[in-house]
Amino acid sequence: MKVIGITGGIGSGKTTAASILAKLGAVVIDADRLGHQVLDEDREVIRALVGHFGPSILSPGGRIDRQALAGKAFGNPQETAFLNCIVHPVIRCRVEKLKQEQQLLGCKVLVIDAPLLIEAGWTDLVDDVWVITAPVEPVLRRLGKKGMSRKQVLERMQAQLADEQRRGYATETIPNDTGLAGLENRISRLFRHYACQ
Ligand code: ATP
Repeated sequence: MKVIGITGGIGSGKTTAASILAKLGAVVIDADRLGHQVLDEDREVIRALVGHFGPSILSPGGRIDRQALAGKAFGNPQETAFLNCIVHPVIRCRVEKLKQEQQLLGCKVLVIDAPLLIEAGWTDLVDDVWVITAPVEPVLRRLGKKGMSRKQVLERMQAQLADEQRRGYATETIPNDTGLAGLENRISRLFRHYACQ
């Protein structure tokens, strides 16, 4: 089994790239979705986060309110580091388990879609790192349509690695600077080449 890690900046098109790869036959693990599951289900994680950030991160139903948590944790590097240090190891365990399962099932190409693949130190889980890059203006436009303000997006970009730093880890850098058809073409070509290796 070959394992590709997909990563990139906010709104760069990681999920879109992963879904193109899924259509081409790869199995995709979505680390963001696993992160949400961990916040919903893992009692130890919930206890540690409420202990640190306080009960205001809980919704009236007693679940973690992700927006409230983001409000507390992002914007302060120490608080972000605390959150990551509690949550990342648990997500990593889930990714490892799913990876083992796919290996046993005979999967040929596994994709791990992980925005923080590099920051979390997970590059050892993958054989190749594909970095999706996109110019700032289209990202602001696309995420604006999804309700994020310019300020929110720019702040998130500032807090993340720069594309230049990501490139240092990349086995492929995939520019997402044209329409969807352009991205599909680029990924299909790479995938065909990759799957034949
Ligand atoms: P996030 O960092 O928020 O998880 P992401 O990197 O996974 O985002 P996507 O969700 O794939 O990015 O893309 C962000 C938005 O931009 C989506 O609405 C998607 O449909 C759109 N998009 C991505 N690539 C293109 C493209 N080449 N042309 C037009 N729209 C695109």
